[in-house]
Amino acid sequence: MPPPVGQPAGGFGYGYARPCNTCGQATGSGFACAFCGQLTFAPPGVTLASAGRRLGGLLLDSVLGVVTLGIGWLIWSVIVWSDGLTPAKQLLGMRVVKPETGMKATWGTMFLREVIGRWLGSIVSFFTLGIIYFMILWDKNNQELWDKVAGTVVVYDPNGVLR
Ligand SMILES: [Zn+2]
Repeated sequence: MPPPVGQPAGGFGYGYARPCNTCGQATGSGFACAFCGQLTFAPPGVTLASAGRRLGGLLLDSVLGVVTLGIGWLIWSVIVWSDGLTPAKQLLGMRVVKPETGMKATWGTMFLREVIGRWLGSIVSFFTLGIIYFMILWDKNNQELWDKVAGTVVVYDPNGVLR
């Protein structure tokens, strides 16, 4: 679904004074309502994916990688990247989206996020003793370094509203 017309690009700062469509609270300065997690640019029911669900996805992607001997997971990944997914995200109802457009990430954006972003993350991790991996816990949009690199957020969209 296309975003409402007239939203500023970037989105930071957007939404401060605007009440949340779902809970009615002031949404705060992030892409999602600080109270209920509803994304300001997405239809009702689409929320920012929680750190717990993201961690679950990380573990599930690792397990899937092992049980498919790596290659199965890799092939699965490059197929579903075009839908803003990884194998675990597909199974757990998460999707990678671009806040500027409100649309799922393209294959190129996923390549940037999953390959360049995570490679950069591993380098930064070396110099920060792994602390960078916990960025999701203090970032208001639950972004990891590879999300910043690709300009993406991860949403929980169990009904597949965003496509
Ligand atoms: Zn809300």
